[in-house]
Amino acid sequence: MGVSDCNLFGNFKMEPQGRAIIKNKNTGKTINAHWTYYKCKCRDFFACSGAPQLGEPIFDYLTNHYLNAAAMSGIVTVHVDPSNNSDTSKSTIPGHRFMW
Ligand SMILES: [Zn+2]
Repeated sequence: MGVSDCNLFGNFKMEPQGRAIIKNKNTGKTINAHWTYYKCKCRDFFACSGAPQLGEPIFDYLTNHYLNAAAMSGIVTVHVDPSNNSDTSKSTIPGHRFMW
């Protein structure tokens, strides 16, 4: 999947916002209820099951392209097509910086 640049910082500065419940949009079933979602000041979103802001692996993740959910605050529910999920054992992905 393509990763676009942040129009404010070049690299997205992703700050943790809260918990994301990830549901399969086809079946309605919960894939994982304990993801964290992140937001950049340019309003780009990111969500993952890991904790890259702590230097921990990202594991399963979704970038903004698949997270065009409504306004996000606190705990959010995101409906996804599971085939769009990516995963990595690294704590970084290109173009994204994870803030604490
Ligand atoms: Zn940004």
